[in-house]
Formats: sequence, structure tokens, C-alpha cells
Amino acid sequence: MSELPDRLSLREVGPRDGLQNEAPVPTDGKVALIEALGRTGVRRIEAVSFVHPRAIPAMADADAVWSGVHRAPGVRYSALVANLRGAERALAAGFTEIETVVSASATHNRANVNRSTEQSLDEIAEIIDRAHRQGVTCQVVVATAWGCPYEGDLAVERVLGVARRAVADGADALSYGDTTGMATPTRVTRLVGETRSAMPGTPLNLHFHNTRGTGLANVLAALQLGVTDFDASVGGLGGCPYAPGASGNIATEELVHMVEDMGVSTGVDLEAMIEVAAQAERLVAHTLPSQVLRAGPRWRTVPTPGSTTPPDVIG
Ligand code: ZN
Repeated sequence: MSELPDRLSLREVGPRDGLQNEAPVPTDGKVALIEALGRTGVRRIEAVSFVHPRAIPAMADADAVWSGVHRAPGVRYSALVANLRGAERALAAGFTEIETVVSASATHNRANVNRSTEQSLDEIAEIIDRAHRQGVTCQVVVATAWGCPYEGDLAVERVLGVARRAVADGADALSYGDTTGMATPTRVTRLVGETRSAMPGTPLNLHFHNTRGTGLANVLAALQLGVTDFDASVGGLGGCPYAPGASGNIATEELVHMVEDMGVSTGVDLEAMIEVAAQAERLVAHTLPSQVLRAGPRWRTVPTPGSTTPPDVIG
């Protein structure tokens, strides 16, 4: 295996991407979740999104959530914004980092925001400009980078075209979103490789969903190329709007559990993150998909069977 980076930078997106795909939960529960995440050692948290409440009712209380959060020292908080109005709300709320999003798929972009990709990119240029004038950084998320629920696979050139335009307009960083979990390691290697060649020096964050069980394999493929910025969601909170009942983002504690054993430091206290995953599960009142939440870390043992214990069934 090629050499892995010795550390990675996780962005916890459970409070945003996770809760956005869940039934609305009380504001104080969101605040408590964000504060608990701030005590796990994770250094980046996407806290809220500023979108129209009619589009995403679960994020209607973004301002109240953010003003309720006691911020942890050393943690960078960010907000996702859907448009210029959202960017203005995020700036007014005091965020110093924002993410905005465009879909590489024309059909998905139209379904999401009722605009062409070009129109969205025009507005993103304005958002970047608006953010920069206030000393705020703006990352552009290219959604459906590995495929679209309507169009299927997308040409790499299509994704690169959207990314290039965002970078030309001043994006501080890119993030590729595998919105519906269509990526596989081979596809990750190809898109990351071509992006590096086309836009060397542009920071690249990756956002995988585990919809089809390939999330951690995709992370490993990207780590082998030296990518160090990843999104993950505590407990695997969230879901897929196009596949009811499917898994959401890759689970933060699963990612931490795997990479730390491979010598890649995350700064996250795994036991603490597992406790927050249990808290997230109570908040949404249903079972979350995280396997590490169920099984515990690999060093967690069970009591040695005594003589009175019935023999294990071998199988
Ligand atoms: Zn997502």
C-alpha cells in the first residue's frame, strides 16, 4: 500500500447534512449535539445551513441554533449556504467560513434549486465575492460528483468544468460530494487524479455517503493519493433523499476507528465520539447505521466465559 498521510482533517457534518435528512428535532437538541461534538477533538464542524425554510424545514432554526452554541476553542465552525441570501444570513451570524453548493448534474441542479448549473455558478461568483469582502472563506461543493440519481454516471470532464469555473471565480477550496453514494475507489482515484492535474494547489475536501457501502473504501483510495480533508457524520446520521431508508454520510467514528489504527491521526477521541453517536441516536429516536456504535472499538472486550456459561455456538 502506498504511504498514507500521517494526519487528516475531519469535518463533522452531522448537525447539517445529517439532521437535514432527518425529521426536524428540537433546537436545544441540535445545540447540545454541536457542543458535544466540540468536546470530541474534531476540529471542523459544519454547524447549520442557511436555506429557505420551505425547502428544508429541518434547518429553519439555523440562527437560533448557532446563537445558542457555546463554541469550543480550537474548533472551526462553518455554515452551508444555498444562495446569496443564505450567504448574507451566514455572514450576519458571524461565520468566518462558508460552503456553497452546485450540482455537477444539470438535472439534479435544476431539481434542487430550479436553475441551470451556469446560473448557479454565476450566483456562486457573487457569494464568493461577498464573502471575501468580509474576510470570510468560501468552499464550493460540487454535488453529484460521482453520479446523479437522475442522469446516472457523470463524465469526469463535466465535474472538472464546474470545479474549474468555481476556482476561477475565487473559491478558496473545493469539496466533491458523492451525494447519493455512487463512488467506488477506482472512480475516486480517477476524479481526484484529474482534479490534481487540472487544478494543482487547490485544497480538495471529499464528502462520501455510504449509501452503497463503499464509503470507507473511497476514503482509503483518496488517502492513498494524499487527500487529507474529509467530511463525516456522527453515527452515520442522515440519509439519502432519493433512496428512503438508505444509509447517510460515512460515520465519523467508523472513519476514526479505521484510520487511527492505520497510523493516520484525526485528533478525535474515539470513545467520546461513540458517546456522541449514542446521543445523536437518542435525538433522532431511531437506530443509526454506524457499525462502530453497535460493536464498539476493536479493543473493547467482552467478559471471558466462565464454567457456568453455555458453550458458544460455533458458526
Ligand atoms: Zn451529503
